[in-house]
Amino acid sequence: MTKDFRLILGLEIHLHVKTAKKMFCNCSADIYSAEPNTHVCPTCLGLPGALPVPNKHAVELTQLLGIALGCTLNLDSRFDRKHYFYHDLPKGYQLSQYDQPLCVGGSLKLRNGKTIELERIHLEEDTAKSFHSKDDTLIDFNKSGMPLIEVVTKPVITSAEDAAEFGRMLRDLARFLNISDADMEKGQMRVEPNISVRTVEMERANELPEYKVEVKNINSFKYMEKAIRYEVKRQTEILIGGKMPAQENRGYDEKADATLPQRSKEDAHDYRYFPDPDIPPMRFDQAYFDGLKSSMPELPGAAYLRLTSVLGLSAVAAEMLTSGPGLGLLQKFNDLSQVADPVKVANLLLNKPGYRDLEKDEFLQKMQSDESTIDDADIILATVKNVIAQNNKAVEDYRSGKDSAIQYLVGQVMRETKGKANPGLSEELILKELMS
Ligand SMILES: [Zn+2]
Repeated sequence: MTKDFRLILGLEIHLHVKTAKKMFCNCSADIYSAEPNTHVCPTCLGLPGALPVPNKHAVELTQLLGIALGCTLNLDSRFDRKHYFYHDLPKGYQLSQYDQPLCVGGSLKLRNGKTIELERIHLEEDTAKSFHSKDDTLIDFNKSGMPLIEVVTKPVITSAEDAAEFGRMLRDLARFLNISDADMEKGQMRVEPNISVRTVEMERANELPEYKVEVKNINSFKYMEKAIRYEVKRQTEILIGGKMPAQENRGYDEKADATLPQRSKEDAHDYRYFPDPDIPPMRFDQAYFDGLKSSMPELPGAAYLRLTSVLGLSAVAAEMLTSGPGLGLLQKFNDLSQVADPVKVANLLLNKPGYRDLEKDEFLQKMQSDESTIDDADIILATVKNVIAQNNKAVEDYRSGKDSAIQYLVGQVMRETKGKANPGLSEELILKELMS
């Protein structure tokens, strides 16, 4: 067997959906700074007899993400029960989607040109949160029943960097479309890479390994990259030793910079999926999908192309306005670039302090007055020398201790330049001249 092994991985990414209420009940979804067990009701506590009612807005937002990623939206979809036993899941099953998810297929093109194909996007409920101490396990049910989008890629990712890039672009898109705040520190976005390594021969034959290792619930892209690198090394060593890595779930321990085994991974049939009998199947029509599509703003990828090829922005400026925190400025840029030079607007928004927070009219006013201000020290200095030569009285006053004489001289410079000289710079230059 060759000793050259290559990484192959798929991603499962969970996003808390930005809705007012939880997924199947009327509890507020604003749980992030709430006291434990204050956003709960019989439904999200899993009490017998409580009936779940799906959150329409969460369904719409999931479909909107599907449209943005080029998925096919299913006309028929439904919720299924996914059974497993764990203390953070009081019903004994999670409401999720099995063979009729809201969205199938689709893809996301990375900035390096690679296309990452998607398997599906479905909607489910989050579980409660447990806290383990030495003697006890405490459970907070605020998170139980939170609406959760799961995006599943095909196993097509071949580097840790691409996996992180996919995650960042999905986070940016979800924030841009107001689908999720995707704050990883608050648990609003979690990534789970399914990692295997295979021989070069298998890669050429497009063959997948017989096992995969899922690293659960990672809350930072940096840790995800580290976990992937650790797994590649660990799995490669096992394969070189002539064994097959176990199919299992592992967790990433950031202090040890290592992954550790968790429970062994169930096959799909162990979850005993079946349609939830309390929730009627969902049926959509094309007119509804068309309405959602028409509400879709221009997406960051398309905006990048327009900014560079139509508006003449540099690749760097366009990239800054269409990814990460700069995406928050894109709408403002679009408004302003209709009425002012796009390249100048981008430069002021991205590089000049004091512009970002201005309203459109204030921005344009400031832009105009800043443009006409003379900031060139050489030009102002010539005027300053003139003014000093022509105002002996004021110069003498200053030298005899009358500080206000400086303001008189600045006023003269302003008069000479028809108010365009930068006053602060003028004063600085006058003082320098008088001291020399
Ligand atoms: Zn509830």
